[in-house]
Amino acid sequence: MKDIMNSDIFSNTEIAFENRSDEELRRIYGLFKKMSNSSLSSIGKNMLKASMFLKLPIHKFAEKYLFFHFCGGITLEASQNIVDKLYQYNVKSVLDYSAESRKSEDSFKQIESEIIKIIDNVATNRSKIPYAVYKMSGVANVELIRKIQKKSELTEEEKISKERLLKRINYISKYAYDKKVPIMVDAERLDVQEFIDQIMDEMMIKYNKEEAIIFNTIQFYRKSSMEILKKSFKKVTETGAYYGIKPVRGAYYQEEKDLAKENGLESPICDTKEDTDKKFDEALLFCIENIDKISLFAATHNEHSVKYLMTLMQDKGIDKNDNRIYFSQLYGMSEHITLNLAKLGYNITKYIPYGPLKLVMPYLLRRADENKAIQGQTNREFEIIKKEMKRRNLIK
Ligand SMILES: Cc1cc2nc3c(=O)[nH]c(=O)nc-3n(C[C@H](O)[C@H](O)[C@H](O)COP(=O)(O)OP(=O)(O)OC[C@H]3O[C@@H](n4cnc5c(N)ncnc54)[C@H](O)[C@@H]3O)c2cc1C
Repeated sequence: MKDIMNSDIFSNTEIAFENRSDEELRRIYGLFKKMSNSSLSSIGKNMLKASMFLKLPIHKFAEKYLFFHFCGGITLEASQNIVDKLYQYNVKSVLDYSAESRKSEDSFKQIESEIIKIIDNVATNRSKIPYAVYKMSGVANVELIRKIQKKSELTEEEKISKERLLKRINYISKYAYDKKVPIMVDAERLDVQEFIDQIMDEMMIKYNKEEAIIFNTIQFYRKSSMEILKKSFKKVTETGAYYGIKPVRGAYYQEEKDLAKENGLESPICDTKEDTDKKFDEALLFCIENIDKISLFAATHNEHSVKYLMTLMQDKGIDKNDNRIYFSQLYGMSEHITLNLAKLGYNITKYIPYGPLKLVMPYLLRRADENKAIQGQTNREFEIIKKEMKRRNLIK
């Protein structure tokens, strides 16, 4: 058996950046150099927040540096170029319309139409785009979800909105089911996540009878994540349905910690990075042990976790391109993992957010936050880019 854990399969930067010209690489190098300077990154982030609030032209900065690196385009159609380019390297795409925390019924309707468009696009482009995805906070009022989750008394108007929301989720799920398009829902903050978990379990029971069409996302930085996974898996599969899961570590780490502290509550998030890592890998093991009933979309930039899943697949004799298992990284990050996995023949996708800059901004801020907060993350990316710049003699 090949010892994947001790191999250096992700060290080939020539493969990692073979889809990037010298000019593109220089631009990426400049961006990550800025982000690796944590004080500059903090200033930049605060300026972006202020510019959003005050509607200042500093948006231009985000557009020039962040949007073009981390996003596909302003529209679904505009993102197609990137999809085609990645496909030349055996990398598939998942296009995520990054509208979140919307407030009006009109915007929910508009986003619902966009999701339907995404599903139609997947249905005709399955080889390049294997999944559709959306965010609950794009199609529902988060204040309402918080109230439902807390089991607070709803006003008559809220009861109508709740019914409308449940209908909308069912409509999207059924539309995907009819088109045979697997669809994921992203995980968000924990004050809405329990509701999302519950409704996605119901959708899986309803629409995953023949195969996994509906996928939920579980954040393994939650202390209770393994219990959530096991309980949800049991609830869904004992009805005879298949289970679809996108495990992630979780993107709202600092917000969740601050919120718990503000409310004088124990943090629901793991106390250490090692605890989160352990849970994430435990989840991968659980999925592989139950692969007969599970489809897995492993969303991570963590080399150890990726190698661990590759090892589990190898040990269990699962083909690299078994269509129940996909790996995925965010567009603009960890090219060394994506492109090398593609070269080795694994199912691999880039998760590509798209939409107007104003809507994508919370996503970009999370990336900036993450790259600042996570020890070593940006530096690791930056070191890899630097290595390729040196290999191409673009820097000394
Ligand atoms: C394709 C894709 C889809 C995604 N979709 C979602 C989504 O729907 N919802 C969502 O919330 N996130 C999502 N993410 C982001 C994800 O949750 C992580 O924030 C990000 O991928 C970094 O984690 P990592 O597994 O890549 O590994 P690493 O870089 O090794 O881990 C970093 C993560 O570890 C955790 N962590 C860091 N420090 C600590 C600490 N001190 N204590 C405890 N835990 C800590 C945090 O979750 C942090 O993000 C997605 C990521 C990808 C690649």
